[in-house]
Amino acid sequence: MSLAQGRQILAIPGPSVMPDRVLNAMHRAAPNIYAGALVDMMPGLRADLQAVARTAQNVAIYIANGHGAWEAANVNMFRRGDKALSLVTGRFGEGWAQQARDLGVEVEMIDFGRSAPVDANRVEAALRADTQGRIRTVLLTHVDTASSVLNDVAAVRAALDAVGHPALLAVDCIASMGCDRFEFDAWGVDVAVSASQKGLMVPPGLGFVWVSDRALELCRESDLRTPYWDWTVRARATEFWMNFGGTAPTHHLYGLREALTMIVHEEGLEHVWARHDTLARAVWAAFEAWGDGASNIALNIADPAARARAVTGARIAAPDATRLRQWCETEAGVTLGIGLGMAPPDDPRWHGYLRVGHMGHVNAHMVLGTLAVMEAGLQALGIAHGSGGVAAAARVVAGG
Ligand SMILES: *Cc1c(COP(=O)(O)O)cnc(C)c1O
Repeated sequence: MSLAQGRQILAIPGPSVMPDRVLNAMHRAAPNIYAGALVDMMPGLRADLQAVARTAQNVAIYIANGHGAWEAANVNMFRRGDKALSLVTGRFGEGWAQQARDLGVEVEMIDFGRSAPVDANRVEAALRADTQGRIRTVLLTHVDTASSVLNDVAAVRAALDAVGHPALLAVDCIASMGCDRFEFDAWGVDVAVSASQKGLMVPPGLGFVWVSDRALELCRESDLRTPYWDWTVRARATEFWMNFGGTAPTHHLYGLREALTMIVHEEGLEHVWARHDTLARAVWAAFEAWGDGASNIALNIADPAARARAVTGARIAAPDATRLRQWCETEAGVTLGIGLGMAPPDDPRWHGYLRVGHMGHVNAHMVLGTLAVMEAGLQALGIAHGSGGVAAAARVVAGG
């Protein structure tokens, strides 16, 4: 008998669960885009977008998903013939680099595998070897949503500084923004990209590109960009429409206003990060308990310091990860994330990975509920597992 009736939970790493407050804020008649509340909202919205990335510098907004934000960053940063140094720790790092390559940028890729973070020493060596200074940008993924690796942005900045290399540091924060600590200014980031539908709790449709003053200046001669994607006017908009290159994404802006009010002004960004940290540790504790002993269950990232607070990737030997996902959805109303990029989709091993999304509008009861459902599924399906996963997670929540 299925027990899935009731409110469904989407525990995939984006789109994430949206607060009813955000959805309700969007439920309104079409607003005036020439004057009034929406136009007046803009300065505060920009200030809060700066706050969420911890920067006093520039931000450009696009009607786009994360791929659009990637492309916005790429076409503004690169000139024809430039080179990118791409640091890959999962499927998304690969995707951003591939897009740059498709745009005609030469890409030097360092692949750190699917279960380990960037090693800054190797980055430093690659920068030192670039004696002609052809590397225009270092592309780094803060949290790779496929592997659930968390990368050390400040360590990559330190590698650039140690070499004295002028390359821009560009960071994909699509999964991490509003989940894992990110400090645009303090860490010396030049470009950061994100999107609305993950930690920022708004439907997919808004892409954000934060740009340092240095990058804005340096990229003035970039010749890959087209008028719509040019970040100059958007970042320095003096009229409302200039923020969007045309009609504003009216309802998304109301949703974003509500979400940023919740993150920046009510809960507070530091607390939002702390909540994600505790809930992530609860998820890890459950997997560690299930993986105890002879079971075929393991977290994808062994080192806790390299684990994301937004998403957790795990191995449950094929085909059990897929069986468990299906059971959770059809029997208990919880949708877990597929394993992405860990094995080709037509490879039987593809069914040996899954991901749990814990980004954005998630609290203790949602995460504990998801883990309890997973534990029930492990039992129902006869998948060998260590005992006490939910109890271990509860101990983390109890300890704050
Ligand atoms: C989700 C995600 C993307 C892609 O974003 P879309 O909105 O699906 O285009 C890119 N990078 C990371 C790290 C992501 O998590």
